[in-house]
Amino acid sequence: FTAIERVSEILDEPIEIRDLENPRFSIFDSQLGYVDELDNHEQASSNKPNLGEIKFENVWFAYKNDDYVIKNLDFTIHPGEKVALVGPTGAGKSSVIRLLCRLYEPTKGRILVDGIDIREVPQAELRRYMGVILQEGFLFAGDVKSNISLGDSYSIEEVQEAAAKTNVDKFIEKLPQGYDSELRERGTNLSSGEKQLLAFARAAIRNPQILVLDEATANLDVGTECLIQDALQELLQSRTAIIIAHRLSTIRNVDRIFVLQSGELVERGSHEELLEQGGMYATLHNLQMLGTSEQSKRITKS
Ligand code: ADP
Repeated sequence: FTAIERVSEILDEPIEIRDLENPRFSIFDSQLGYVDELDNHEQASSNKPNLGEIKFENVWFAYKNDDYVIKNLDFTIHPGEKVALVGPTGAGKSSVIRLLCRLYEPTKGRILVDGIDIREVPQAELRRYMGVILQEGFLFAGDVKSNISLGDSYSIEEVQEAAAKTNVDKFIEKLPQGYDSELRERGTNLSSGEKQLLAFARAAIRNPQILVLDEATANLDVGTECLIQDALQELLQSRTAIIIAHRLSTIRNVDRIFVLQSGELVERGSHEELLEQGGMYATLHNLQMLGTSEQSKRITKS
């Protein structure tokens, strides 16, 4: 929650959304006991394979007036499925994620998580259910441990376990004070790769049923890129994920790709299917391949 508040400060986007006076409380527990499990970190280590469905039902959204930036989005992401959102800048990818996290509400249509309209869910509960990693890791001045635990009562062992799962443990252990080392505001004393891995650890410790990731765009060296892809694979296991993907390696590893253009879902399918179609995705893919080969030429030269 703290993270979301900070994100909102940084993006300068007020959170205008209010909970209902009588929200459906603990919607995720019902017969499945999910919330009880979350209260007990030990038990929360395994996610429910049949949970984590995301459904957009004819969702339209405008930041102002009738200027729709999301137009009639209608899709289901199945429990455990990984979906990448791709599309040019301004296509609406971030807006989809903001709607899903309920930083904004649809102008028309509904968003359901496990069959429940997210407007009926208290925001705090939604945040426990969905791990959100945004491009900038939003680290704050404080020690490494609290940057991972965000003030929740995780033991140092749990923090270490999350760090190990996301390949950031070796880096932390090299710091002068290990997990007690102080980070500067926004992690300015860390590389972009380290920041990303710390953000992964922060999500991993909460073991969310759904992971929402806006992948960082920073160019990383090959070693860091491998660490990140490896950590990401671990993080994606046994949960639903929706990713704004900037890396081909990530895109190739998802189940389906949704291509957005001017707020509309114009293509959907696997990497191979979309390449075969030769549409927007194939074009974006080829452009990125070009960028990557230019980049590798530069790396080779230097
Ligand atoms: P993407 O993530 O694909 O680059 P966005 O979801 O950020 O696309 O943006 C979709 C459209 O919404 C763009 O036209 C953008 O200018 C507009 N937009 C994004 N954020 C805001 C905002 N806070 N207020 C008004 N318009 C916005």
